[in-house]
Amino acid sequence: MQLLDGKEVSAAYKEQIKLEVDKRKAEGKTTPHLAAILIGDNPASKAYVGNKVKTCAQLGFESTLVEYDTNVSEEDLLKKIAELNKQEDVNGILVQLPLPKHIDENKVIEAIHPLKDVDGFHPSNLGKMMIGQETFIPATPYGIILMLQHYGIETSGMHCVVIGRSNIVGTPMSVLLSRNSNPGNCTVTLTHSRTKNLKELCATADIIIAAIGKPKFVTEDMVKDGAIIVDVGINRIPDATRKSGSRLVGDVDFENVKEKCDYITPVPGGVGLMTICALMKNTLRAADLV
Ligand code: NDP
Repeated sequence: MQLLDGKEVSAAYKEQIKLEVDKRKAEGKTTPHLAAILIGDNPASKAYVGNKVKTCAQLGFESTLVEYDTNVSEEDLLKKIAELNKQEDVNGILVQLPLPKHIDENKVIEAIHPLKDVDGFHPSNLGKMMIGQETFIPATPYGIILMLQHYGIETSGMHCVVIGRSNIVGTPMSVLLSRNSNPGNCTVTLTHSRTKNLKELCATADIIIAAIGKPKFVTEDMVKDGAIIVDVGINRIPDATRKSGSRLVGDVDFENVKEKCDYITPVPGGVGLMTICALMKNTLRAADLV
């Protein structure tokens, strides 16, 4: 089994990005600038946004963090997005999801200018991705593609089972892996909570992408020998041996599945790190579009 090591791969991509940023600066071009909007005090959201801002600093990007209380109005949030859309020195805008219930997520996503939508969630960008036009690809699926590319994994002709059909992970992942490219050219089965024979389907998969949000959901009996396992899930479970009283696990039962597969991503240290890296690549691209 080979570990698909997000730490190693993201470090390699980040080095490339940093070199490009240094080159831009030396040529007198603009510095890529990401604006992140964080609402409320959800510890996971805070940690994700904190990591994104920290990575901006590491790579020589500018970043702006806009923080709101949970009770911020939808109107104020939309106003801020409109302001950032106009601000010429801001290249990328992200609003950390999930949003409080009183705010319409679709309205917020659609308010971001498509050319600044570095998360790739705007319908216009998702539509372009569907038909294979160059655009911002949602960061998590893009990060997974970058990881498969890094390891030179040839996916053509493989059967891929994607578990989970969210707009930000499962659905775009299924599109990317089924299109005529490398990585890609897979026969994809997109599954969800109503799928009847999930275990049997998974057992026939050359690649499993697990994006469900259920700890250790994919067990060894669902995995065929030699499969490629990509674990997107981030779940916190109780662990009395840890000082914090908890630890992070993925959607895959890593310890048992690793014995059967050829490649597997760990959690933490896998897809999460690649997601940030992909976001940075999108932001760098956004800086080139102005
Ligand atoms: P959502 O919660 O939006 O969707 C979960 C999906 O899983 C749904 O499509 C749901 O089906 C499906 N599902 C739930 N139960 C089952 C089941 N028993 N069998 C089959 N399918 C099932 O998920 P996200 O895509 O937003 O996130 C998934 C996980 O990935 C989470 O743990 C999240 O924290 C993590 N994540 C990690 C990222 C990273 O960077 N590593 C980035 C984004 C997310 P249905 O549609 O029928 O309800």
